[in-house]
Amino acid sequence: MTWDLIIAGAGAAGLMAATRAAELGCRTLLLEKNNKVGVKILMSGGTRCNITHAANQQGIANAFAAFSKKQAGFLRSSLAALPPENVIELIEAEGVATKVEDTGKIFPVSNRAIDVRDALLRRAKNSGATLTIGAAVTEIEKPAQGFVVKTSMQRYETANLLITSGGQSYPGCGTTGDGYAWARQFGHRIVNPVPALTPITTDEQWVRDLQGITLPDAMLAIVCADPQQEANGYSSKHFLASRRSSLLFTHFGFSGPAALDISRTVTLSADRNTLKLVCDFLPASGFEDFLSQLTKSCRGSGRSNVAAVAQNLLPKRLASAAMERVGVSAGKRAAELSRQEIRGLARMIKAAIIPISGTLGFNKAEVTAGGVSLHEVDSRTMQSRIVDGLYFAGEVLDIDGPIGGFNFQAAFSTGWLAGQSVADNTRASGIDRQ
Ligand SMILES: Cc1cc2nc3c(=O)[nH]c(=O)nc-3n(C[C@H](O)[C@H](O)[C@H](O)COP(=O)(O)OP(=O)(O)OC[C@H]3O[C@@H](n4cnc5c(N)ncnc54)[C@H](O)[C@@H]3O)c2cc1C
Repeated sequence: MTWDLIIAGAGAAGLMAATRAAELGCRTLLLEKNNKVGVKILMSGGTRCNITHAANQQGIANAFAAFSKKQAGFLRSSLAALPPENVIELIEAEGVATKVEDTGKIFPVSNRAIDVRDALLRRAKNSGATLTIGAAVTEIEKPAQGFVVKTSMQRYETANLLITSGGQSYPGCGTTGDGYAWARQFGHRIVNPVPALTPITTDEQWVRDLQGITLPDAMLAIVCADPQQEANGYSSKHFLASRRSSLLFTHFGFSGPAALDISRTVTLSADRNTLKLVCDFLPASGFEDFLSQLTKSCRGSGRSNVAAVAQNLLPKRLASAAMERVGVSAGKRAAELSRQEIRGLARMIKAAIIPISGTLGFNKAEVTAGGVSLHEVDSRTMQSRIVDGLYFAGEVLDIDGPIGGFNFQAAFSTGWLAGQSVADNTRASGIDRQ
C-alpha cells in the first residue's frame, strides 16, 4: 500500500499532524520508535504536563512573545492554524479539563500528564490514522516519486513524509537526533543543536548542600566574571541573560525555571569557567529598599539573634548559609550588627555571586536549541523548500521556547499545520489527476 503521509515520530507534533491529516482524509501512517507514544508528554511538567500558555486578549500574542524574533516570524502561520485556545479545546473535547495557573501555565485539572497524552492518542486513533509503535525508522530513500521509508521490519512507500522525530535531549526517551541526519541527506542545513532548558551546575559545596530548597520567586542572572566589577557589584547592564521565576537547589547546583531558562547562555559560551551567576533570592524589592528594610528589622529586633531575622526572610538552611558566607554569627543579636555586616548580608541575599561549572547538557535538557534551519522550510506549510513532499514539524526544527508550555505549543501548531498542508496538497493533486 502506498500512503499519502508517513510521519516519523509520535510525540506532540507527530500526534497532532496524524490527527489533522487523517481527519482531512489522508491515508496516514504514524511510526514510533518507542513502545509507547508521547513519552515526553508523559514526563513533562513534572508529570503534570504544562500543555500551553494562557493567551491574552490578542489570543496568540503571548506565544509569539515567548520566541526569538526569527522563530516567532516562522511560527506565525502555524500558531494561527492552531492557537493555544484550540489546543485546549481539542484536549477538553476528549474529556480532560484544564486549568490556568497564576504563572499563565495551563495544566490538566487532574495534574496527570497521562490524561493529556491519552486524549491526544484517542483523538489520533479516532481520526483513522494508523499507528505503529516499536517501529524505528532506520532509512529513508527518495525515488523519483514519493519516499521509501524503512524500519527494521518493514518497507513502506509514501507520497509525503513528515519528520517529527524531535531533538536530541533526553536521548534515553528515543530522541537521539535521527531527524537531523535525514534532513542533511536531503540537503537541509542543521543549525548546531545545543542543549537548552538544562540545569546549571556549580562546584560550590555550600550551594549543593542546599539541595531540596525551592524558592517560588528568585532572579538569576549570568555575568562574565570581572574581579573589579565583582567588588562594586554587577548591575543589569552586565547581565548576559536573566530570569525571574522559581528556583530549585539541587545536589549539582540549580534547576527550576529561573535556572533552566538562562542555561542556553552557559551552553553556548566558549569559556564557561568565566561565567558566574548573580542570584537575587528576594527580588520583590530593589537593593536599597531591601537594605533599609533589613536595617530596620535588625535595629528593631530586640533580643532576637540574626538567625531569627534571617529566617523570617529565607528558608532556614539558606538563611544559615547566607550568614556563614558573610561571616555573621547566627547567634549574635541582630540589633548589634554593624552597618557593614548588614550590608554584607543584604548583598549575599540580593546579589550572591556563584561560579558556574557548566550544565547537565543534553541528558537533562528539556529541549534542544538548533535543528533544521528555518530558512529552508516554508512556514506557511512546513514543507521543505528543497524537496517536494518532505515536511518538518516540532522540535526537530530550529525552534525552542522558554519554560511555560511554549515548546508543546510550537510542536502542536507546526504538527497541525503540516498535517493540514499535506491534506490540502493531496486533495489538490487528486483534483489535478481527475
Ligand atoms: C523532562 C521534560 C519536561 C518537559 N516539560 C514540558 C512542559 O511541561 N511543557 C512544554 O511545553 N514542553 C515541555 N518539554 C519539552 C517538550 O517535551 C518538547 O518540546 C516536545 O515534546 C517536542 O515535541 P516533538 O513532537 O517535536 O518531539 P518529541 O515529543 O520529542 O517526539 C519525538 C518522537 O519521535 C520519536 N523518534 C525519534 N527518532 C525516531 C525514529 N528513528 N523512528 C521513529 N520514531 C522516532 C521519539 O521516540 C519521540 O517519541 C519537556 C521536555 C522534557 C524532556
